[in-house]
Order: sequence, then structure tokens, then C-alpha cells
Amino acid sequence: MPKKDMTAGERLCTFIRREVLSADLWTQVATSLAPVARSAELTDFFEEVTSVHLTGRLVMGGRDISEEVGTVDQIASEEFEQQFLGFVRETTELSGRRRKEVEGRLVALGADAVRAARKSEIPPGVAKAVRRFAETKHRHCYLCGRSLVFATEDTLLQLTSEERKLVYEAEHVWPQSYGGDSDEDNLLPACSSCNRAKDNYPTWAMVDVQSISLGINPRHEVLDRMSGTHRFAMLSRAALGVAHRQRISLKEAYVEVGPGVSPRVLRMNDAADFFNMGNIR
Ligand SMILES: [Zn+2]
Repeated sequence: MPKKDMTAGERLCTFIRREVLSADLWTQVATSLAPVARSAELTDFFEEVTSVHLTGRLVMGGRDISEEVGTVDQIASEEFEQQFLGFVRETTELSGRRRKEVEGRLVALGADAVRAARKSEIPPGVAKAVRRFAETKHRHCYLCGRSLVFATEDTLLQLTSEERKLVYEAEHVWPQSYGGDSDEDNLLPACSSCNRAKDNYPTWAMVDVQSISLGINPRHEVLDRMSGTHRFAMLSRAALGVAHRQRISLKEAYVEVGPGVSPRVLRMNDAADFFNMGNIR
């Protein structure tokens, strides 16, 4: 079941997943991966990484083209459309009778995502609403769960370096560089250090989760040393699962799952790799 796509970038990504990549492909991949167990998880990983990767390439390429063509308004121009179509054709290698139709949709959905990616700042009204939501209902970082510090321009200078890491920021749940809109449906309160650490990762599959291999029953100290991006990846995978099952937005899913606090092993007698770990609050 699809999740509720709130941003232009997510709509492009869902289209790629459904219309550019074929469902048969993933069934074949899953069958081929049977000998390594974790077959369903790894297939999910490849599907996620492939669709998000192409989304990123199209949005970032389209953004460069649009900056050469001119202002954001010119994304609607024929010049942009023609150049972007050329880029879509070079980037993808589509074939078959639906090629033109799919390319046309990629250009249209991609143009919306490029528009979102080019907006430089969160509009003041939206910024105010998200901050009000944080101050009244969500006083913790949605990623790490720590209490946020609400500073103004004046008080910011008086904060210690530790406090500064916890300063409230509005974070794009689906990153702006991947076509994430700067509106309330795509913004959640985060601490400054998580906002930096999450960087432009739209999903767990873009983090190097395949590198985690901690043996059987790793000690607590080992788990506690797990990096912020790996913790984000665990949370992102949980949130995406909830968003798909309940057909809700990513933002709603993150709120429902709650922040990730410390990693733990799920099945004790199995090796602790990314797919055998989860977060507890
Ligand atoms: Zn945080």
C-alpha cells in the first residue's frame, strides 16, 4: 500500500517505483537472493535505494538545468522542458511502447520537485506555525528524542556549546534537495545536531547500513557507539513501514513511531546486522 505522498519529490519517487521499475524485477531479485536469508529485507533495500537514487539524480540535474535557464518561474518555460526532457532521456534508458508517456510524466513530476528544491527558505508563516507546534506540542527532537532548546537571535549567543547542539530547527522530513516542499506537512522539530547529521538522507537505504555487522549478542557499549546516521536509518525504516501500512504521510509516521533512542538486537541468536536491529525509546 502506498504511503501518503506529501511532497513533490515523494510523488516523483513513487512514480519511479511503480512505472519505471517493474514489480516482476523485485520478485526475481527476491528469489535469487533466497540463499542469503534476509532476502525480503535486501530486496526492499535495493528497491528503495534504486528508486530514491534516480529521484535524486533527476531532481539535482533538473535543478542545475533550471538555474542555467533562469528563475524558478522559468521552470514552466518550454526551454526548461526541452532541456530537462533531454536530460531525462540521457539519465534513464527507457524502452517499449510507453517510453514517451513515462518520460513525459517524469518531466512533469520532476519539474514540480525541482521547483521545491529551488525554494531557498521556509516561508515565514510556515516557519512560525512549525515553531508554535514545537513549543506547544512537540518539545523534543523527532529523531533523537532530546529536549529542544528554544532560542531567539539574542539568546543564541549566550548558550553553551552543548545547548547549541539542542537548538530547535525545523527539519525537512523528505529533504529539500530531493524535492521536499517547505510546508507544514513536511517539517518536524529537530535539534540542530540531528539536522546536521541527517544531512540530505531521504531514507534509511541511502545510509551505509550494509556495513553494520556486529556478531552475535554484541555488548551494550558496542550498540551505544552506533552512529547518529545509523540510528536515523533504523528510525527511517520503521517510519516508512508504518507510513506504507497505514497509508499516512512520513511526518505522521515519524510522530507515531517516536524518536529512536538506543539500538537493540531483535532476534538474539542471530547475527546483529542492520536488519536484525531496531530502536527502543
Ligand atoms: Zn536530535
